[in-house]
Amino acid sequence: MTRPLGILGGMSWESTASYYRLLNEGVRDARGGLHSAPLLLHSVDFAGIAALQKAGDWATAGEQLAAAAGGLELAGAGALLLATNTMHKVAATIEAAVNIPLLHIGDAVGQALHQAGIQRVALLGTRFTMQEAFYRERLSQRFAITVQVPDATAMAEIDRVIFEELCRGQFHERARTFYLEQLQRLREQGAEAAILGCTEIGLLLEGCSSPLPLYDSTALHVDMGLGWLLEQRR
Ligand code: GLU
Repeated sequence: MTRPLGILGGMSWESTASYYRLLNEGVRDARGGLHSAPLLLHSVDFAGIAALQKAGDWATAGEQLAAAAGGLELAGAGALLLATNTMHKVAATIEAAVNIPLLHIGDAVGQALHQAGIQRVALLGTRFTMQEAFYRERLSQRFAITVQVPDATAMAEIDRVIFEELCRGQFHERARTFYLEQLQRLREQGAEAAILGCTEIGLLLEGCSSPLPLYDSTALHVDMGLGWLLEQRR
């Protein structure tokens, strides 16, 4: 029997719902009939995690997610997806707590960019993902990709929109226009493509014509999970 893929989700549930749908659609398309994705989901209460992020208490957030990961492993998961870019800041804590692989979102994005020959990329995400080293360094060290981020004022607004709108299921035209303007600016500064490095941004920009080719972390991470699931069957 195929071992299920474990998902650490709820950060936010808006994007975890996309993971659930896309993973099931992917298995249906690959295997046909009534086939669907064997999954185990631990969906957290995001308010608690967001408060720990804000307080800078990454150690406690890491411990909580590591405990959840341990539960998924115990329940039979054969690999894990952590369905948020930001919380990959504590990926090492989670990896240390389990004996199954954590399929890293930065590698999913990096591999796709590398295959497309992209060397200079714009990154939109939470302020943690844009400002701190954990995400950018993964891309530069493993894939030789240079990351460009918006200026400080724009970063603050992008981050505000994520927590006050997108993670609450609000997708407004004003935010869409602002995000697209930032992509245009980053293109003028030399970016060849853009990472939607927050799992809810794809929901905001769905169907938009963008000034840069978009690499949606949610879709690429799902593809990585699907690769693992389908490989299990062989
Ligand atoms: N889902 C978002 C991300 O991909 C933001 C929520 C969070 O802070 O975990 O980073």
